[in-house]
Amino acid sequence: MTRMPALFVGHGSPLNTVLDNPYTRSLRTLSRHLPRPAAVCVVSAHWQTDGTRVSCQSRLRQIHDFYGFPPELYEIRYAPPGHPALARRAVEVLGGKAEAVACDDSWGHDHAGWAVLMHLFPQADVPAFFVSVDMAAPPARHAELGARLAPLREEGVLVLGSGNGVHNLAAADFGNMDAEPDPRGVRFDGHLRDALLAGDLDALVDFHRWGADAAYAVPTLDHYLPLLWVAALRGFGESVSFPCEVFQNRSVSMRSVLLGAPG
Ligand code: ZN
Repeated sequence: MTRMPALFVGHGSPLNTVLDNPYTRSLRTLSRHLPRPAAVCVVSAHWQTDGTRVSCQSRLRQIHDFYGFPPELYEIRYAPPGHPALARRAVEVLGGKAEAVACDDSWGHDHAGWAVLMHLFPQADVPAFFVSVDMAAPPARHAELGARLAPLREEGVLVLGSGNGVHNLAAADFGNMDAEPDPRGVRFDGHLRDALLAGDLDALVDFHRWGADAAYAVPTLDHYLPLLWVAALRGFGESVSFPCEVFQNRSVSMRSVLLGAPG
């Protein structure tokens, strides 16, 4: 089996589930070109835990984890099966009990997953399991854990980090998705792009080096951390590309990152 690509997607607002815009079109284009995986391993900004958790159940309940949006969004049903065997394999390669990594059936399929997957795999026929972000662990630890998922790519798993490289909801213009992006966010997003192209994982881990722009772009770590998991998976000589490079709502970067050829 050849190595699966790996993907980070900036998921942004849940409204993207029902919109046709440059971001959702980028996912639909990927949908046509990605090889079909045995399962998707979603590293979710929305599953925040102490220690690293993996959903090992065969059926995940769908979670509509957002508030104040139009009723139609809460009616969207997207429920692919889980994949207990590959989820347990993820626990194993991440280090298991010795590394405080364990199966945990208490979470479900949150919208960091389904809001993206419904565009990538509209039939909901590709199994998906979730990995949490350990909010007690520093960024370097997240890069280290992400790198450990490399063997899964050889086993047909699409690793999907889902967060946002720039995610400042306090500064967001919720009424206007196409609002002019803040220069601080644009500069930080440019640093991410440059570091990804250069394969400079250290810079991505030590993102505070970008000073006030970093403080603006990453006020909390949760949406940034899944990017480190994916960046750490880049193989020697492997291509990196950006299927989407737009901002939404003034302060949210929808940049996505694809490792490997889309097939
Ligand atoms: Zn989110």
